[in-house]
Amino acid sequence: MAKMLIGGELVDAQGGKTIEVRNPANGEVVGQIPRGTPADVDAAVDAARKAFPGWAATPGSKRAKLMHQAAMKMHEVVDEVAELLAKEQGKPLAHAKIEAQRVAENLEYFAGLADKIRGDYIPLDDPSKFGITMRRPVGVVAAITPWNFPLTLFANKLCPALATGCTIVLKPASTTPLATQRAIEAINSAGFPAGVINTVHGSGGEIGDALVSHGRINKIAFTGQTATGKRIMQLAAKNVTRVTLELGGSDAMIVADDADIRRATAAAAIGRFFNAGQACLAVKRIFLFEKIAEEFMTKFTERAQKEWKIGEQFAADTKMGPLHTEQQRTEVESQVADAVKRGAKVLAGGKRPDGPEYAKGWFYPATVLTDVPEDSRMATEEVFGPAVPLFIVKDLDEAIAKSNSSIYGLGSSIFTRDMAKARKAAEQLDAGYTWVNDIQVAYDQLPFGGAKQSGFGKEHGIEAVESYTEKKSVVLGSA
Ligand code: NAD
Repeated sequence: MAKMLIGGELVDAQGGKTIEVRNPANGEVVGQIPRGTPADVDAAVDAARKAFPGWAATPGSKRAKLMHQAAMKMHEVVDEVAELLAKEQGKPLAHAKIEAQRVAENLEYFAGLADKIRGDYIPLDDPSKFGITMRRPVGVVAAITPWNFPLTLFANKLCPALATGCTIVLKPASTTPLATQRAIEAINSAGFPAGVINTVHGSGGEIGDALVSHGRINKIAFTGQTATGKRIMQLAAKNVTRVTLELGGSDAMIVADDADIRRATAAAAIGRFFNAGQACLAVKRIFLFEKIAEEFMTKFTERAQKEWKIGEQFAADTKMGPLHTEQQRTEVESQVADAVKRGAKVLAGGKRPDGPEYAKGWFYPATVLTDVPEDSRMATEEVFGPAVPLFIVKDLDEAIAKSNSSIYGLGSSIFTRDMAKARKAAEQLDAGYTWVNDIQVAYDQLPFGGAKQSGFGKEHGIEAVESYTEKKSVVLGSA
């Protein structure tokens, strides 16, 4: 049974209760975690609080060294962590391995920044004095992560926290805690002082609430649904705790009449079907210029039918595992059913796969729809699964206006050979990211975060370091 890491010790929940973690491909129990209580949250926050002054005062170069060592420890357990992740989340083993390796890479990237955090010299009108700014770590961070990319998303919070001198209490999703816990234990074994890194396990309603409304935390770094983000903002208001919210998305891809259709269909397929469509940055709506619409539809449908083989996570030819939960599959099915009922045509997928190998899991195929009404659920809600609507537009203005009609604004992309169109899209799409002729993946070096109801605040890049520090102004007068 997995444990929680609190104050340097691996512990069970106070009260001794546990939660079972199941494999979404067959429903089998793959492990158990402690069912944490508000008292465990108190203990974890206390430990993080106690460790904070010492860790904040540790020189950046020493923090960097420990983080490099932690990256090596992480490399050593990549296979073990990936296997746990594939089992509990449902993604193919090869993809789980990439995700586990990315944790080590993220540690290395932020280790490189740990000793480069500094302020400014600011001359003042009065020559007898001057100002400086210093960046101080914000304090104790409560990090809350979802189940779709559990490792990537805890690393996005842990690494800048460690680099800046913050301490942290991590709460993974209760359906994907095992890989995170194992990875944290490996990272912690590099020799971080007790209390710098802590974990608590349990459901959002039970201990998530207790953690985000705790009076002794200084920042909430949250990734998850927009509805949960709204609740967290309300809870954070109680103590005026700062929040970073990475929420849902409904990313638009625009394919112009001069696009390279082979590249565009490849990027659209990876963008929509990778991780069984359960990605915040997935391509969730596709806008096609009339001239290329038919060619795109034919080629994209062919990719959806031939290239995205569904199966259990450990089969070598699986490209798409099951959806993560029954509720997730039911939600996607009901969004597709709503569109079909209102006149949409299914070009690929659209119903559960037949066969005994799929009977016990939450499998759903790569699904492509056209003639989807613009006020249907597929067009207006986030579709968190492998189903995508294709829309036809007459020009770029219409494509941009429709892309921007969503309440979300996370990512966006355009395929075109015309620099004027690319530039206009980059300037006018309301989103935190625009890719031009490229696959929608995030980069360590580039700030990442949404607009509108996709949230605010940045992860990745130097901007992440900034969001874990507070700029303080100091005036130095003459003695
Ligand atoms: P979710 O909001 O249901 O859960 C996320 C986490 O919040 C879990 O750990 C959960 O236990 C916790 N939680 C739930 N209620 C809480 C509460 N009241 N207080 C504190 N914590 C609480 O999200 P999910 O279904 O696990 O994840 C899918 C969603 O996440 C999608 O909407 C997706 O777009 C979004 N997402 C966004 C990004 C991004 O970077 N913008 C990345 C990945 C996923």
